[in-house]
Amino acid sequence: MTQFYEVFGAAPDGTWAAPGRVNLIGEHTDYNDGFVLPIALPHAARATVRRREDDVLRLYSVQARLPLQIPLPLLTGARTRGWTKYPAGVVRTLRDAGHAVGGADILIDSDVPTGAGLSSSAALECAVAAAYNDLYDLALAPADLALIAQRAENDYAGVPCGIMDQMASMCCADGAALFLDTRDLTQRQVPLDLAAQGLRLLVIDTRVKHDLADGAYAGLRAGCERAAGLLGLRALRDLPADGLDTALGRLPAELGPLVRHVVTENGRVRQAVEHLDRGDAAALGPILTAGHASLRDDYRVSCPETDLAVATAVAAGALGARMTGGGFGGSVIALVAQYALDQVAEAVTAAFRDAGHAEPRTFTAVPSAGARRIG
Ligand code: ADP
Ligand code: MG
Repeated sequence: MTQFYEVFGAAPDGTWAAPGRVNLIGEHTDYNDGFVLPIALPHAARATVRRREDDVLRLYSVQARLPLQIPLPLLTGARTRGWTKYPAGVVRTLRDAGHAVGGADILIDSDVPTGAGLSSSAALECAVAAAYNDLYDLALAPADLALIAQRAENDYAGVPCGIMDQMASMCCADGAALFLDTRDLTQRQVPLDLAAQGLRLLVIDTRVKHDLADGAYAGLRAGCERAAGLLGLRALRDLPADGLDTALGRLPAELGPLVRHVVTENGRVRQAVEHLDRGDAAALGPILTAGHASLRDDYRVSCPETDLAVATAVAAGALGARMTGGGFGGSVIALVAQYALDQVAEAVTAAFRDAGHAEPRTFTAVPSAGARRIG
């Protein structure tokens, strides 16, 4: 609050928090109308905001530091670049959708690691969207705010992401994984108390992001859409598992593995939810590892660092592990018995050192709350 006054010279109206996420299973399914199962991280972006009565948006990020203040005419300004495109994109998207919103002074302070596949961008967007929803009395539901945030990322930040990250940040609940159907956004909170089952979820941020990441994502998405079109389907989600072999015979060779990943991955999400509904979180382990193999061999979005983290974690006693997020770097999750937590984290760190990679950052994650007002 003091910092807000120093930057903007006035008191804020309030503070809103929106978390980053890890996806337990269901990767690259959200732009195929499929299923995902994310949890929100304890790490969040906090937006401290003062509503303005003019059309000016002033933005400051504690992490980005410079520039201190950016006056942005909301309606007429050119597209912004750098990190401001995310919050400015949310405000402009609200306007585009016909909501009568004006300006604001916004101070961002986030502990979600950026560019680590933990969705710091959605956290930033959703914190701003939640603040605007309250300050401008928009009365939008969390899923509607998630759609606004996704459109901001698609249209203003130029990232053709699916809906998972924004839905996770807006809709996740403390102590639960979010089972989400990305076609119609129906959702269910699946209780997940890892500690009660003697388990921990270890997150390993490999600290690498290969240049391939941005271009490859759009190419993969286009490949999936082409395959669905060739099969006469609205989306790959509509291909049942028992129709996979026939479908593979009808597709060009380069599209087959993409389709196989999406179909088997949707199956893994359903399986994972069945296990969690029975209270058996440990059974997720082999599903995670199978999901990683599919991303590595069929979808081909893993990289040496994420493969090493997964293989080392499993060899050191993890029940299962996989890359999470878009791929080509980013983070790995490992499901670990509590007693094996240190040995798994240490084994991965040692393996990275031996391979000459930068030291990974490791932390444990518990399913945490979605976007909310905190002050
Ligand atoms: P991820 O969402 O996996 O962290 P992205 O590339 O989608 O990776 O988003 C990262 C970008 O989000 C950063 O480069 C920056 O532009 C923006 N961002 C995230 N957190 C902050 C922050 N605290 N301050 C300023 N910009 C941020
Ligand atoms: Mg992102």
